[in-house]
Amino acid sequence: MSEIKPHVVEMYGKRILLLNNFIEDCILPNPLIADVWLVNHQERSKVRKFLRSVVRSHDMRVYLKPIYLEDNLRPFFMDDERVMQRLSDGFFGNTDPLQIATLTDQVAYFIEKHRHGRKEKASQQEQILQYIFDYNYTRRSKIVPMRLHQSLTGYAYPRIDSFFFNRSDAYLNSRNILKEAEEQGYLKRTYFDTQHLCKSCSSGFLNYHEVCPKCHEHDLKASNLIHHFRCAYVGPETDFVAHDKLVCPKCSVQLKNVGVDYDKPGKMFTCNNQRCNHQFQEAPIQVGCVDCGTEQETYELVVKKVYQYELSEKGIQRFLFREEQVSLQHG
Ligand SMILES: [Zn+2]
Ligand SMILES: [Zn+2]
Ligand SMILES: [Zn+2]
Repeated sequence: MSEIKPHVVEMYGKRILLLNNFIEDCILPNPLIADVWLVNHQERSKVRKFLRSVVRSHDMRVYLKPIYLEDNLRPFFMDDERVMQRLSDGFFGNTDPLQIATLTDQVAYFIEKHRHGRKEKASQQEQILQYIFDYNYTRRSKIVPMRLHQSLTGYAYPRIDSFFFNRSDAYLNSRNILKEAEEQGYLKRTYFDTQHLCKSCSSGFLNYHEVCPKCHEHDLKASNLIHHFRCAYVGPETDFVAHDKLVCPKCSVQLKNVGVDYDKPGKMFTCNNQRCNHQFQEAPIQVGCVDCGTEQETYELVVKKVYQYELSEKGIQRFLFREEQVSLQHG
């Protein structure tokens, strides 16, 4: 294992390993030297890298280890705080000591019962599913999507995504694995959200533009339409502005009370493209992808539902209690 001298403290009758030096060098500690691991490193990129490597470990004594975050790290994690919480068992100080002891015992019992007789998984997909079952079973937890702006679509499953090295792979593979496992009855899903994604790259970061129906530019000037009751003239508000008053350009009468002598029946757009200057009332929406720049129509966006998952009884039987039969049926 490592050359790092482990710093273990005793608390609540459990051995707690301070991870500082291990995180610094991104080395996984020997899982036998402590019951609980405590993240006490301030550099968030290193902490994230370490926690992801814990998830990817093939040793259940590593990937099931109860891991907590030192409370004073909160300000250092900044945007990553929620991800850190998802990749660990939470902040140490927020957790009831009894809960820590209970989880530690649950994990130890699970490992004792399941570690032997485990076969090397045939594919990465199987390894990930096995991980999902081991982890969520010991934590009694669900697989909950998380809003995350560092992800491709804006939603992530941080633990499953940790198996992949870029946002695009993480998105495609995580959702596929969950979808297939659900179709085979190993996971149950609950609706969480609907997303509209870029047709080219699946990004969820999209810029919606009102565009000119003639030249498709989106540099538009919007103004209210004014309808003068007396002479029935309808035109953009800018046509009526005279100094600080509203005066009808057709009949030259001053407008006084909205609803009494005039109203505002809608909006009017003027295209700022000098060669176009088109005026129109209905502006079609066009969507630009923030990530790849593809311009597309709203009907071209890819609509995807986002689900929360939980382990099904069938899945628990298959992955945790009949391990000799584990091999995914495809097709
Ligand atoms: Zn135009
Ligand atoms: Zn008028
Ligand atoms: Zn795109």
